[in-house]
Amino acid sequence: MQCRICAAEGIEPFLSLGKSPPANNLVPPDNACPQEQSYPLAVCFCPKCTTVQLTFTVPPEVMFSHYLYVTSTTKTFRDHFAAMAKSLSGRFNLSDVSFVIDVGSNDGLLLKCFQGYKVRTLGIEPAKNLAEAANREGVETLNAFLSPSVAGEIAKKHGRADVVTANNVFAHIPAIHDVVKSVRAMLSPQGAFVIEVAYLFDMLSDMTFDLIYHEHLFYYSLTSLCKLLSMHGMEVFDVEHVSSHGGSLRVFVQFRDGPNQVCPSVGEMLSSEKSKGVIKQATYGAFAQKVQEVREELVSYLAELKSEGKRVAAFGYPAKATTLLNFCGISKQYIDYIVDDNPLKQGYLAPGTHIPIVSSSRFREEKPDYVLILAWNFAKEIIEKSAWLREQGVSFIIPLPKPRILHSA
Ligand SMILES: [Zn+2]
Repeated sequence: MQCRICAAEGIEPFLSLGKSPPANNLVPPDNACPQEQSYPLAVCFCPKCTTVQLTFTVPPEVMFSHYLYVTSTTKTFRDHFAAMAKSLSGRFNLSDVSFVIDVGSNDGLLLKCFQGYKVRTLGIEPAKNLAEAANREGVETLNAFLSPSVAGEIAKKHGRADVVTANNVFAHIPAIHDVVKSVRAMLSPQGAFVIEVAYLFDMLSDMTFDLIYHEHLFYYSLTSLCKLLSMHGMEVFDVEHVSSHGGSLRVFVQFRDGPNQVCPSVGEMLSSEKSKGVIKQATYGAFAQKVQEVREELVSYLAELKSEGKRVAAFGYPAKATTLLNFCGISKQYIDYIVDDNPLKQGYLAPGTHIPIVSSSRFREEKPDYVLILAWNFAKEIIEKSAWLREQGVSFIIPLPKPRILHSA
């Protein structure tokens, strides 16, 4: 295939996770869509620009038809964005004469936090239901896909922004060059562009291969991000490693030779990526090998429990669970049901595997012996919250980075 960033030809996948349905497309219980579509899920590494990316692009309208992910629903994100608005407002001296644009603004949570500092804000959000919700909350939001012409209109109507933010956008959009061009068209020459994106190195070191799903087209290192941005006359002047989404980068970008000094953090991270092999093809072959080992180990655990007559349920249905379950071939033969506290997901079936997603009352009706934790990033909180399960002697299975069982005392 051809690299989406640098157009190099003939890139080969290093890991294939088989065919998988779009991770967020939950199946209605009456199976109203028997024609559930699956698409190839494989990742490749471009030796020329070092970007890791999917081989196949699923049409966006297939993935975003049932949009269930709303930022404001989790406390972790509310706290994260409040802290981000505070830190950026302080660092860039934002006040009532400043203007901030958020790309992919979801329900307006981050901009709402900026409004606390009297900053003028504008959100850009392609999902109609989310843009409407934000506008109702007093966060002015344009319901549009960002393009250079939309960005030009914005700059004409509202002026150029002091800060443009893009959280969890860079991995998702196939036309990523257009996104960078758009930001150029609406950012002030002295302004800062702040990107948050899942960090490839964390995925490699924590074995979180379930973050590979169709919505995530790109898996960035700082090295690959710098290359992409430099193609558009922009430079990274600072970088922070933050904990969201299992490990992310917060990258600070400006026009080349902009007002900010380039911080030592940038050079340090670039050389650490070099020494840790993040930009070497061989690293990815080794990663793929370990992914196969995790699958074999997890499936053999579950098969053993089943042969002993144990009952196994699962907890949490984040999008990444679709990858884990489908790739490992874990279906109703091993898992009786999945509990998720989000009422919007209850009553649906998991994509591909068709395991029912239910509320936590099911635990009492049909007590499991083991609970597989699919939302591994919240494993600690889930186990702490599940006093009843622990008292009943239920054990927990954590699938990654290496499957392990936690027995209740
Ligand atoms: Zn490339």
